[in-house]
Amino acid sequence: MHNLPDNLAQVLDRIHSASNQFSMPSPQLLAVSKKRTAAEIREIYNLGVHQFGENYLQEALTKKADLTDLDITWHFIGPIQSNKTRLIAENFQWVHSVDRIKIAQRLNEQCPEGKVINICAQVNSDGEDTKSGMAINELSDFADAMTDFSNLRLRGLMTIPAPRDSFEAQKQVFTEMKETLHSLKAQHPQLPLDTLSMGMSSDLEAAIAAGATIVRVGTDIFGPR
Ligand SMILES: *Cc1c(COP(=O)(O)O)cnc(C)c1O
Repeated sequence: MHNLPDNLAQVLDRIHSASNQFSMPSPQLLAVSKKRTAAEIREIYNLGVHQFGENYLQEALTKKADLTDLDITWHFIGPIQSNKTRLIAENFQWVHSVDRIKIAQRLNEQCPEGKVINICAQVNSDGEDTKSGMAINELSDFADAMTDFSNLRLRGLMTIPAPRDSFEAQKQVFTEMKETLHSLKAQHPQLPLDTLSMGMSSDLEAAIAAGATIVRVGTDIFGPR
């Protein structure tokens, strides 16, 4: 269960097989290391994965301080409170969980000079009030606001769908994301929209079938949390 080399090899094999099966490009693997130790991150890094996703700011900063000798690209993927934006802007190259203009505005203002932060708009693909993420009909205004945020690059969409019980149902929600990104690109051709951050341990094949460019995998690499 905690054999990280075997786990990682299996995940990479699943990604490779799904890409072949569905004739899609292989997405980038983002290793989701929330609740795992710096030593575990180092082990996965040494096996060739250099992109890590974290959900909890304080926990991430503690581990990051232990890993300064590694060339890690850090992605923030957790819920964002506005009083946390400065440290997120200072410590992460990517932020997948931007769910309102106000958060983007603060990240832009607090971005260190000379740095550009890649962001994704988190979309609530299930339309439940309780889940974070913006509604699809809020995306156009969000993308318009990017004109004012020169330190941010809106790269695409991130979503965390509720579990579904069939591959087809999983794929359907991811395909809606792909279509949403496609229309956003048509409306905002000036934006560098090339990213669909979708698919986790339980649904990465369906996400790849629908065109994911980044899959975010925690459990199947590191074991259960
Ligand atoms: C925890 C988490 C993941 C990884 O989920 P697993 O099911 O453990 O692979 C991916 N994305 C986000 C936003 C997460 O919070």
